Amino acid sequence: KVRLEDIKRRFNNVIAVEDITFDIPDGEFWVLVGPSGCGKSTILRTIAGLETATSGNLYIGDRLVNNIPARARDVAMVFQNYALYPHMTVAENIAFGLKMRKFDPKTIQERVVNVARSLSLDHLLDRKPKQLSGGQQQRVALGRAIARKPQVFLLDEPLSNLDAQLRDDTRAELKQLHQQLGITTIYVTHDQVEAMTLADKIVVLNGGRIQQIGEPQAIYALPANQMVATFLGNPP
Ligand code: ATP
Ligand code: MG
Repeated sequence: KVRLEDIKRRFNNVIAVEDITFDIPDGEFWVLVGPSGCGKSTILRTIAGLETATSGNLYIGDRLVNNIPARARDVAMVFQNYALYPHMTVAENIAFGLKMRKFDPKTIQERVVNVARSLSLDHLLDRKPKQLSGGQQQRVALGRAIARKPQVFLLDEPLSNLDAQLRDDTRAELKQLHQQLGITTIYVTHDQVEAMTLADKIVVLNGGRIQQIGEPQAIYALPANQMVATFLGNPP
């Protein structure tokens, strides 16, 4: 599970987020949604350990991780733009984190094959990144991050550079991969449709504060305020 208790992050005199409290049960897929600047990336980066909360407590599993560095948190994060290792093949890129963690060759092979199949990369395993399209490279980056089965998978607008068709396909694959692996996932987007289709629970943010937390249909049907209603496309 992932638990945030009254997390606040201030940059000099700007409060990026405050009063952020939620509790994600193991294996659920949560989506943070809200307009540009509402604090989505700040929350995700704080969970990843790339950002330090000004105050509040953060738990991953049962462990308080406020002072645990990113590399020791067992989280994997994928951004909008990320670099693959250019000299390695697709298979080697996906296997990279597993090799680092000294998984045995048989397990590595199984994981690579499984992840590649789920993300439609089977036929590309021997290629180098520069021989792939942008969308294919992003799939490899997703595969590389999830192959080691982190305790928590964090995604910050991972599909926003893809065209509409590719975004739909990759979104469906991601959902399928999540159902298969059951890794607790937090997904950031400013796209309401993406939030509605992916989420077990949606967290709607505005101005650095949580507006509402709930299942997509419940929030859509009963928005807590005008901002939520308008943002999710069901204005009063
Ligand atoms: P977007 O959808 O545009 O990516 P976001 O919801 O991810 O937006 P954040 O990047 O979390 O928003 O930013 C939240 C607020 O904190 C913004 O007002 C932003 O300007 C501010 N902020 C973020 N990072 C910093 C920083 N390093 N220094 C100062 N202010 C920052
Ligand atoms: Mg952001």
